[in-house]
Amino acid sequence: MIIDIHRHFVAKDWFSENFWRNYARIIQQITSRMGRSFAFEDIQAKVFPLYFDTTGEKHLEQMEKAGIDKTVVFLFDTGLLTGEPEVSIEEQNKIIFKAAKKYPDKIIPFVQIDPRRPGAIEFVKKSIEEWGARGLKLHPGAGFNPEEAATLKMIEAIADYKIPVITHTGPSIVPTSSRYCDPIYLDKILLGFPEVNVIAAHMAYGYRPQLCSFGWQRPNLYTDISVSQDMAKKDYPKFARTIREVVDAFGPERVLFGTDSPFTWGVLPEKDFVAAIKDLVHRAPDDAKFTVNEIEMLLGANAKKLLNI
Ligand SMILES: [Zn+2]
Repeated sequence: MIIDIHRHFVAKDWFSENFWRNYARIIQQITSRMGRSFAFEDIQAKVFPLYFDTTGEKHLEQMEKAGIDKTVVFLFDTGLLTGEPEVSIEEQNKIIFKAAKKYPDKIIPFVQIDPRRPGAIEFVKKSIEEWGARGLKLHPGAGFNPEEAATLKMIEAIADYKIPVITHTGPSIVPTSSRYCDPIYLDKILLGFPEVNVIAAHMAYGYRPQLCSFGWQRPNLYTDISVSQDMAKKDYPKFARTIREVVDAFGPERVLFGTDSPFTWGVLPEKDFVAAIKDLVHRAPDDAKFTVNEIEMLLGANAKKLLNI
């Protein structure tokens, strides 16, 4: 079974204009290095809409092609820092819960709401008890410190439900903040709530050495490999060695498959990413070989256990 632990639903009115304009600047910078230039309006009209899907249909099509059986889905609440979206965060969560009701075998909804928002804890509890949320997503890129009382109270409130928490780690996309996205800010949660399993997303990008150096010492810390698509495409030996390094640091049972779709669709299709991971058994360099069992754990068996499926 293949389970994607990291996927977003995205729509134009789920973020502020400020967010999209800044996001476009990154695309403009990358494309200008390739000698091409696009106005914000072009990106807004032609690129961003490729990501938009709040029913799950585009996502399910990609998953089908890739052989991904189930996926976790959540939103991206940056409103307190980057400006409020037209569709409220509560409403966005509910749209995801609705899609999960429609595709109960495919979509596993996680709730996400900035812990500093009034009524956030009550909303999270209701999401779990009444609307079927099966995990909590945090995004400190919205500018909060995971060690703050508001976050710790939220973790305390969900601890009894035995659901995992996934949190962004590594530098965070402009205009969100990278300040509190270093994995070290998770330590209070990890030590204070040893029964709560925490997934540090994206292998923490450039903070990977920090993540690996304490990953093996925190039994409730996991990581996902989302956004390594670029590496898999451009430098396969480096990709293999990176995943090997992380699996060796955490142990094969605490590293999870994730795509961060739809943001990565333009980098590598989901089916090619899954193929690149399966190929690690045969195609990886000799110093970074994987067993069939390790790949099965990475692609789904670990997530199955973590999500109680
Ligand atoms: Zn993400």
